[in-house]
Amino acid sequence: MTGSIIHNNGTAAQLDQVYKTYKMGTQEVKALSGVSISFQKGSFWAILGPSGSGKSTLLNLLGCLDRPTSGRYILNGHDVSTLNDDQLSEMRLKHLGFIFQSFNLIPQSTVEENIQLPLYYQGWDPDASREKAHELARMVGLESRLRHRPMELSGGQQQRVAIARALANDPAILLADEPTGNLDTHTSVEIMNLLQQLNEQGKTIIMVTHERDIAAYAKSRMFMRDGLIERIEGSE
Ligand code: ADP
Repeated sequence: MTGSIIHNNGTAAQLDQVYKTYKMGTQEVKALSGVSISFQKGSFWAILGPSGSGKSTLLNLLGCLDRPTSGRYILNGHDVSTLNDDQLSEMRLKHLGFIFQSFNLIPQSTVEENIQLPLYYQGWDPDASREKAHELARMVGLESRLRHRPMELSGGQQQRVAIARALANDPAILLADEPTGNLDTHTSVEIMNLLQQLNEQGKTIIMVTHERDIAAYAKSRMFMRDGLIERIEGSE
């Protein structure tokens, strides 16, 4: 087991006085200046704020892609604040799903293979992982596209594949970075409806966006400024 276990019940992720400082030669840039917040299981958060306010830094920390300079991060009951790179990557594989603006699918692989990828890394039996990929493809409405490659799909369909892949390891949190940034308005609405549906089924979602109408799909909104949470809107 990675990280010490902390009993948490309803909390998917918790940040306590998290600071992140980047060193640029002799200069220090404070990206996060003491962020404390709990993300409850089943919540759906949008993180908003001007450019440079710390949104990406926060998402990178929540995604175990980086470590805080100081402070504590508890993910799904594990203290991950001080883990090494290998341990962080294990946490990502076991507890997190990622959705990106640019989908990040493997172009040479089929829909089925793309969805199976996290299961492959976890050593799943090929038959079981194929079956799981089919179930996930059905969930996102792509069961008839399993043999297609990403290039043969629309942007919205590619994002659906990415969402299915992000769900494959049954993550504690789905992290989305501008998930509709490359999609037209109609397709954005479809993708946000899908994320809302997944949240209604119990998935915890944290999404960075700069669009107010996209943030409106979340149940809670966090506004960041100068590396701090300026204000919170909505309910969990
Ligand atoms: P946002 O996503 O809200 O635009 P970021 O988290 O990317 O904000 O950046 C917060 C601050 O940290 C900015 O001042 C940015 O220049 C700085 N920053 C972010 N990443 C790095 C990095 N890798 N090295 C140095 N400074 C960084």
